[in-house]
Amino acid sequence: MPEIIGEYVDRLVNLEMRVQGGLPRGVTHKLYEAARKKQGPPLTFLAAQKLIDALKPGDNVIIATGAGVPPWLPKGETDGPLGAASLARALDIGLGVKPIVVGEERTMAPTEASFEAAGVTIVDEKMFNERSHVALAIPYPLGESAGEATAHELMERFKPKAVITVEKHGPSASGMYHSIMGVGRSPDLVANVKFLTDLAQEQDILTIGIGDGGNEIGFGLIYDDVRRIQAYGPKCQCPCGAGVATVSKADVLVATAVSNWGAYGISAMLALMLENRRVLQDTETEYRMLDACIRAGAMDGLYTSQVMYVDGTSSAVQAALITILHHIVDNGLSQQPRHW
Ligand SMILES: [Zn+2]
Repeated sequence: MPEIIGEYVDRLVNLEMRVQGGLPRGVTHKLYEAARKKQGPPLTFLAAQKLIDALKPGDNVIIATGAGVPPWLPKGETDGPLGAASLARALDIGLGVKPIVVGEERTMAPTEASFEAAGVTIVDEKMFNERSHVALAIPYPLGESAGEATAHELMERFKPKAVITVEKHGPSASGMYHSIMGVGRSPDLVANVKFLTDLAQEQDILTIGIGDGGNEIGFGLIYDDVRRIQAYGPKCQCPCGAGVATVSKADVLVATAVSNWGAYGISAMLALMLENRRVLQDTETEYRMLDACIRAGAMDGLYTSQVMYVDGTSSAVQAALITILHHIVDNGLSQQPRHW
């Protein structure tokens, strides 16, 4: 049954709603279908099942997020931190897992604010080891050499049992990073988390990549499809010419319309499969998370300003999505009433 419900959770979190002249239209379902064809089962179901199988209480999980670069998104965007916070909360409540969040230092304030609004308090390492409902927040340095060293350091220090990325960009074949509109970014401007996910895969540690464009870690699984589907897939606007598709893979790719929604879909499937409705945040918590994220400096990626939007979709849309996800979970856990 969870697999059938996951089918519809996947569809809900893959509703594309775009403004005119913005990101390319009509790509969400194509990326999703390619990801399904490659992997088989519904993606949110698959990710939730792998997490349940891989994790036990007390295990560490590293969650990476943080997208956007100065000057337009100086402290990052609202897509990513909220999804990371939702998953940290779900894994804490549902599985007793210990979340560690990493990202560019410039994006950490909004990320930490989102976590705390979700009820996952950022603490020091001593307290992290002593209690639940807390997380560690660790800045991930910019550039390739520091990124590679940090990957090894994090794996040795925390021995995570899963690494999850939410809206975390991976490099193209040239080594350059790209916005979905094909604008090139040097690896020196971003946290090269791909070293961490590559290392985790080498060590047979579960990796889950959640993304909405094809340039995020995980989409390397369907590299050729992204090159074919995305407007700047075959060729970027920067001199490298490699296109926006990333080569970075994950064990599970969750393709979605908005990266946060893919994470919410996984949280919903965890709630269903663990039979605990509380594992998915409620609408009030969702509102608090978005409000806190923006107050701490994050901006909407479309409007590039501190407004209550995520990828150009309003706060009301986030609430509607959470409402429907909760109803799917509630009905999935309820019996048909008896007729007398
Ligand atoms: Zn390029």
